[in-house]
Amino acid sequence: MNTENNTNRNKGIRRLEHPILPLVDMVQFLYLTGSFETIAKVLDEMNESIEIKGSVYENPRQLLAPYMEMMQDFEVVKGPRKLPYTFPFIVNEKQEPQAKLKSLELWIKQRVLAKELEEINSILCEPCGCVLCCTGPDSGFDETAGYKKRMQQEFFEIPLLNEEIDLFELQRVDNDESRNLTAQSDTALDIDGAPFYKHDMALYHWQNGWSLILPRGSVCPQLATETKRCRVYAKRPAVCRRPQIFPYIVEELAEKAKRSDGKMIQVYMAREKILAVWDCPYVRQYYDEIVAYAERSRVEPVFRKSKK
Ligand code: SF4
Ligand code: SF4
Repeated sequence: MNTENNTNRNKGIRRLEHPILPLVDMVQFLYLTGSFETIAKVLDEMNESIEIKGSVYENPRQLLAPYMEMMQDFEVVKGPRKLPYTFPFIVNEKQEPQAKLKSLELWIKQRVLAKELEEINSILCEPCGCVLCCTGPDSGFDETAGYKKRMQQEFFEIPLLNEEIDLFELQRVDNDESRNLTAQSDTALDIDGAPFYKHDMALYHWQNGWSLILPRGSVCPQLATETKRCRVYAKRPAVCRRPQIFPYIVEELAEKAKRSDGKMIQVYMAREKILAVWDCPYVRQYYDEIVAYAERSRVEPVFRKSKK
């Protein structure tokens, strides 16, 4: 194990031991109950180390600075600030509407965790030497992720935004048939008498957008297999940035609600959890640390397997 890998592991574990949400909770409490006019003024006061549940945060103001824009949304509660986006409608698991402040808190938490977990993921992923997220089933790289048996899936799908498809010089399938189905439809798109996933790796335009289909044995064309690194790391697709531990504070539902002004707004359900994908080697390796991270962040950890 080389020194760089060890350094990254230690850095990742330290981040898990010092989650940002307890500090965000503290900022929220001080702002809402104190005489502070802005969130920035709360942060100005947080320049000495703070201990929360046994974890010492050396420079809270500096640690919180990257989350400032998200936390500033609290200012709508007692200041003239207006949200620069359409605020969603959030219900609890009994479908009851959440109070305005609770909804705001959940919405801020979701975004804060998404940012924090994306960074932790990048730190912990690299030392694993695993490329499971960049390969199809049975690619020959599965053992590095702990898979010894043949995987059951026929393909893996990497959803892409329209502006991301040019990252891949691959054949494109974009016709009425593909656009009437999704990769997960019960009836698989048929190409020349065989399901689409029996053909070579390609880009498909589905009913729900574009995706890169990685059939059995395939490897993303942007993966440098000799170094196990992504050739387009800095501009890799958004889905490739998603962590294997991800926020599930709110879940987007397939429905909209009518606001008092008649505008239709997206409905979300409060979940207050984080989801960790058990297939990922660092999730298995740092199970205890992830559970402790969730407890400190006051969310429930849920572990799920996605690859079979
Ligand atoms: S684009 Fe990069 S990060 Fe995404 S699947 Fe391909 S190699 Fe992996
Ligand atoms: S499964 Fe985990 S360790 Fe493997 S490539 Fe994906 S994020 Fe990295």
